[in-house]
Amino acid sequence: MSLEIANLDVSIEGIGILRDVNLTIPTGEMAGLIGLNGAGKTTLIRAVMGLLPSDRGSIAFKGEDLTRQPAYRRADMRISYMPEDRRLIPELTVTENMLMPAWANKIRDGEQRLKWVYELMPEIADFGERKALQLSGGQQKLVALGRALIPGREMILLDEPFEGVAPVLAKRLSSVIGDLRGEGLTVLIAESDDAHSADLVDSTWQIERGEVSQGRRDRSESSDD
Ligand code: ATP
Repeated sequence: MSLEIANLDVSIEGIGILRDVNLTIPTGEMAGLIGLNGAGKTTLIRAVMGLLPSDRGSIAFKGEDLTRQPAYRRADMRISYMPEDRRLIPELTVTENMLMPAWANKIRDGEQRLKWVYELMPEIADFGERKALQLSGGQQKLVALGRALIPGREMILLDEPFEGVAPVLAKRLSSVIGDLRGEGLTVLIAESDDAHSADLVDSTWQIERGEVSQGRRDRSESSDD
């Protein structure tokens, strides 16, 4: 298993948000986390990223308990996320935005990784020198995905990647995420419904008022680990 969350409770400002969450994703698989707004998707992703402390339970990545690691260790462990609101720096160019995690985390082969991301999404290479503020919301989502992929070689957590994206770009995003299959990446895709993720994922988890239950397994073939 790549990700193994067990009996996880998380609260925000004293209010219990996640309750006894159990969720696992085998290495190299894609999982959907489906729930309405306010269900707790962002809270779960932020807890995995170490941006929120947990009250109880464990979040193991390849056997190591992430709840005992400071947030910055996620980059060393090749774990990254794409926030729902993108958080690009508007005044910086697309290329600068993409390289930011590599600079911040002293990733030595950042440029090489950027080249790979540009091969995966040639359209963002085309606007690499433009400032982020000049891009549409959907284009910015592509850039935010690319930026997450620079440190995120083992696992990426995508927080509503298709939200507010025009249909053509949502289709493109979905095809890029599909192309990641076979890269050995473990992927979690949070969505309010499974409109875009259903065709991508191996398993689906439902989240409702902070409680997670396992939905169907979408693909018959799966890795053993
Ligand atoms: P959304 O798509 O709306 O972000 P979500 O499923 O990601 O939905 P969360 O953002 O994780 O949901 O929110 C889960 C619950 O935690 C909600 O009830 C929300 O009101 C609450 N919550 C989130 N952030 C805070 C905060 N800073 N202070 C208090 N409550 C919060």
